[in-house]
Amino acid sequence: MESKIHLLLIKLLTLHSLLVLSSSQDFDFFYLVLQWPGSQCDTKSSCCYPITGKPKLDFGIHGLWPNWKNGSYPSNCDSTNPFDAFEILDLMCQMESEWPTLSCPSNDGLKFWSHEWNKHGACSESILDQHEYFLTALNLKTEINLLGALEDAGMNPNGSAYSVTSIRGTIKEARGYTPWIECNRDVSGNSQLYQIYLCVDSSGSRFIECPVILAKKCSTSIKFPSF
Ligand code: 5GP
Ligand code: 5GP
Repeated sequence: MESKIHLLLIKLLTLHSLLVLSSSQDFDFFYLVLQWPGSQCDTKSSCCYPITGKPKLDFGIHGLWPNWKNGSYPSNCDSTNPFDAFEILDLMCQMESEWPTLSCPSNDGLKFWSHEWNKHGACSESILDQHEYFLTALNLKTEINLLGALEDAGMNPNGSAYSVTSIRGTIKEARGYTPWIECNRDVSGNSQLYQIYLCVDSSGSRFIECPVILAKKCSTSIKFPSF
């Protein structure tokens, strides 16, 4: 009798851990993170243009990052599936245009894209393979057209200052979703618009309102520098 109860307890415990495992997810949503090139290049650490030349006047992609609702995130999830440029050969022109690298020394961008896939992309490989991952980020960036939304509201990248509240409100009004803003400082120490974070559902197919607060430091009024 005692051993039967023992066996039943073991079965129940196994069932419980299986249920916990099957309900724990790889991640809950993505951040699409876009960077303003002017705010990378006018800093103390400066920037380098890619070998293909100065990027166009637009936000560039930094990354598409899987995240959990509690604010933490997975990283470097699968070393057996490293970045492979051959998988995205057909996307190269678009990558150079929409996902330019600004790190020094000047290079072709492969290092940046490889870092983003290995650190972040591989954590969503159960949903998006490499080609789908990069294509998803490119398509989301085009769809949200952040510079268009800001310029339509008269917020131009010419060194003017805008309140963080008005930038967030403008994007919400124009595109339907409220972004989070990250700032950095120019050489004179002015707080400026550096990165914009938007949230995307875990299938990568649509923007959503962000499920977590992302507190990044900005002054109340921030510079939108030229590039
Ligand atoms: P930092 O410390 O400069 O804010 O971030 C450094 C790097 O950590 C980022 O470029 C990104 O790779 C990762 N990271 C920082 N914050 C987040 C986050 O909230 N979610 C995810 N997925 N990655 C983040
Ligand atoms: P993360 O901050 O996403 O973890 O790391 C970004 C990495 O990509 C850093 O090692 C950084 O040097 C490199 N990187 C290359 N190009 C860029 C760029 O244009 N912007 C940013 N933020 N990082 C870049």
